[in-house]
Amino acid sequence: MHDRPLDGAVALVTGASSGIGAATARRLAREGAAVALVARRRDRLDQVASDIAKLGGEAVAVAADITEPGRADDVVQETLDRFGRLDVLVNNAGIMLLNPALHTTVEEWDRMIALNVAALLHVTHAAVPHLIYAASTSPRQVADLVNVSSTAGRAARPGSSVYALTKSGLNAFAESLRQELLSERVRVSVVEPGAVDTELVNHVSDTTRDAARRQIDGIEALRPEDVADAISYIVTRERRVAVNEMLVRAGDQTW
Ligand code: NDP
Repeated sequence: MHDRPLDGAVALVTGASSGIGAATARRLAREGAAVALVARRRDRLDQVASDIAKLGGEAVAVAADITEPGRADDVVQETLDRFGRLDVLVNNAGIMLLNPALHTTVEEWDRMIALNVAALLHVTHAAVPHLIYAASTSPRQVADLVNVSSTAGRAARPGSSVYALTKSGLNAFAESLRQELLSERVRVSVVEPGAVDTELVNHVSDTTRDAARRQIDGIEALRPEDVADAISYIVTRERRVAVNEMLVRAGDQTW
């Protein structure tokens, strides 16, 4: 087989049991990476792992709710135990519960913050030292931390207040981290997709699910593979390409 850009690299993808995360895991495996697949539904992770194995790739299913105390550290450690290193972290797991403030519960807001913000920070904190080490030891001379944000982080709409807060907060966090880690050769990137046809809208609360579904059906939504393409584009660049200087948006703007 020809050399592939991610041969010898190890990737961890959160939210890999469906949608963008599953497509990204398959895509990075095709580029040569061994992939740790993280999400709660083990059967779905096993399916993605078996798809990857059928294509000659390597993947391990790490079933975990990363909002539970300690689990973010565990998933990074399990990746290291299995594959010995970590070159690429894709912070993708996220939920979107849309509702106007008057019709939501504070528990819905807490759920989004627990996953989209707190768990993402915990996984990142556990992973960064290993990404720095990977960048210093890999023939690629670089490691990647890719964050899946959303156009909602820049263009909030009624009903999306806290979802937008989690994504605009992620953008700010990633930009600061990008500057901190430049000298360590860890590229920190953000992808901001527009609407993508995934199961995400199934978790939208009852009052707005139909409207969200109509929105997805009524427009030319991206496919999860489109976002996987963008992520693959970022992490397969050679070191000299300053992808970390670039904002990648998939959706209403091309990347
Ligand atoms: P999906 O619902 O298909 O994927 C969400 C993933 O997160 C699933 O794999 C789910 O797996 C996982 N997940 C949910 N809760 C947890 C948890 N507590 N611990 C671990 N994993 C969890 O939706 P998408 O693929 O669309 O979403 C992926 C990302 O893309 C999200 O961050 C979303 O905000 C973002 N995005 C999506 C857009 C869209 O239009 N679809 C647009 C812009 C951004 P499981 O249930 O097995 O745990």
